[in-house]
Amino acid sequence: MQHQAKKKFGQNFLRDKNLLMKIVRESNIIDKYVIEVGPGQGALTSYLAEQAKEVFAYEIDTSLAPILHQLEEKHANLNIVYGDFLDADLSIYPHDLHVVANVPYYITTPILFKLLESKNVKTASLMIQKEVCDRLLATPSSKDYNALSVILQFQAHASKMMDVKRHLFYPVPNVDSAVIRIQKRSQPLIDEALIPFFIHFVKGAFKQKRKTLVNNLHEALNVSKKEIETFLTNQHVDIQTRAEALSLDTFLMLIKEWPYDR
Ligand code: SAH
Repeated sequence: MQHQAKKKFGQNFLRDKNLLMKIVRESNIIDKYVIEVGPGQGALTSYLAEQAKEVFAYEIDTSLAPILHQLEEKHANLNIVYGDFLDADLSIYPHDLHVVANVPYYITTPILFKLLESKNVKTASLMIQKEVCDRLLATPSSKDYNALSVILQFQAHASKMMDVKRHLFYPVPNVDSAVIRIQKRSQPLIDEALIPFFIHFVKGAFKQKRKTLVNNLHEALNVSKKEIETFLTNQHVDIQTRAEALSLDTFLMLIKEWPYDR
């Protein structure tokens, strides 16, 4: 069955069997409940179904249904769900979930936030753009370090599983890729009630890269510059500092000690 790849859905299909098998092997999904985002023509899906207890694969492009339907006939534990993954309610699943996906790159960040926010998602192996992977794994003071690096590393242990060259996809995209492995922390690093404030604080701190922490926090949190300067000085943080210099531990400390409204 022929399928014309659709750019608007970020369709770049994988076709390297060894690569697919390696991703599945290193994702440790034997007998687990697996979510796939964008099965496409099912390249990854069949390997997932061979190992997992059950696979739920969300696909937005209904024109792939004839191909995916054949796969469903072959694997009794495979369930294709048609629709936008970003609208999916993952809380309906009563078990731990493990996500394995070659994600549509145009929605990498919203997918990532959704997975981080979904309590029953425990691990994820995601094929993403190599530059995005480098940014997510960046450490303080490197040029790639940003709000999302801090938020991801706050919620999970993350590492690079492998680099993937662009010619392993069809059609060949104009970027290289990498698979990021994400393992959610079993215990939050701060009181759960503070998590939304943590995210707001970190996003605010990085809002404008060239501005100091004082200026960015002043705008994001509605507290005067003078008060922020006093607070930072009390916490032994230089008032000229930019967010990119702060480690995760420093962010955690500032958020715990923050004396104003959260
Ligand atoms: N996993 C396949 C296809 C990857 S391409 C492979 O590796 O070969 C990305 C896939 O995500 C495409 O099938 C595309 O149609 C699908 N997709 C794009 N946006 C989506 C969305 N919002 N929800 C679910 N699937 C989506």
